[in-house]
Amino acid sequence: MSSIPALINQLIRPEILALNAYHVPVSAGMVKLDAMENPYLVPAALRAEIAAAVSDAAINRYPDPSAQGVRQKIRELLQLNDDIDVLLGNGSDELIQLLAMAVNQPNAVLLSVEPSFVMYKMIATFLGMRYVGVPLAPDFSLDVPAMLEAIERDQPALIFLAYPNNPTANSFVATDIKKIIAAAPGLVVVDEAYYAFAEDSFVAHLADYPNLLVMRTFSKLGMAGLRLGFLVGDKRWLAQLDKLRLPYNVGVLPQLVATKLLEHQHLLLAQAAQIKLDRSKLAQQLGVITSVQVFASSANFLLLRVARASEIFAGLKQRGVLIKNLHGSHAMLENCLRVTIGTPEENECFLAAFKESLLQQ
Ligand code: PMP
Repeated sequence: MSSIPALINQLIRPEILALNAYHVPVSAGMVKLDAMENPYLVPAALRAEIAAAVSDAAINRYPDPSAQGVRQKIRELLQLNDDIDVLLGNGSDELIQLLAMAVNQPNAVLLSVEPSFVMYKMIATFLGMRYVGVPLAPDFSLDVPAMLEAIERDQPALIFLAYPNNPTANSFVATDIKKIIAAAPGLVVVDEAYYAFAEDSFVAHLADYPNLLVMRTFSKLGMAGLRLGFLVGDKRWLAQLDKLRLPYNVGVLPQLVATKLLEHQHLLLAQAAQIKLDRSKLAQQLGVITSVQVFASSANFLLLRVARASEIFAGLKQRGVLIKNLHGSHAMLENCLRVTIGTPEENECFLAAFKESLLQQ
């Protein structure tokens, strides 16, 4: 019998052997500003109500496979018409995978921009699907001529555009996105993970384009621990995608808790509004430091450029503050750091540690 390493080399696909696992750093006891989470819980009274509902939940049974309650709530909140359906995923990551699986024929291409959310490329790799990453313009806007050229050349079956974009924090120009949707021969998914912190959405444009789907997640709105993302689009698309969804992909507890939280969506949106205010404040405080470049943000995080980002990142970590070091992840992100907006206290803590780390250089 061969050894385990020999068997692994023989059986696991080379592109999987070459991958680095998605790295989640240890964050226990730290000021955690690395993952675009909402720093707030909902009020204690609502949590007690949820706890009571959870204690009665039938966790001995499989969940409602179609998660009617949550989907209905989303329909109401988004005021969707009858032609549009909602598909839930175990986080929007699962929906990216499901979309890619659905169109993954030989030679099919998944296209996105770079730098953007890394899972688009990773999932294409998981599935052995060809991936094309079109560089953004130097100001992180869409390079429309380059996109149109790539669309013409590679005929992508699937395009992902994060709106606002992670990690660059900006929102692309809506008319640029429309040009891409109009030119694309395949599906275009506008990924609105950060919609709660942005000014615009493509949900209202779903009826205008036969190849448009909009994806969202509740992860940034205070439910990262529930793992719940959703796709909205024409029923006929979603009926096909639903065939690939594993049965019971959203558990009893996430369904129950999300339904309750969405009944109080105004609380979550008020938290998002607070985060937006604190984003402006932190951007302004960082902006006055001459050696720091702060990029415009429509999301719940800021992208910064500093001299020697890795040293600043290490300095922050030493002081108990965890952010994301993007240096080395992409040529356009040289010396860039990404910091999630936390509570005012966390932001103060970050700012103080950041200034100290700058001085230490
Ligand atoms: N899309 C974008 C643009 C993201 O930044 C993220 C999370 N970082 C996701 C999707 C995935 O979110 P989740 O799986 O938590 O729903």
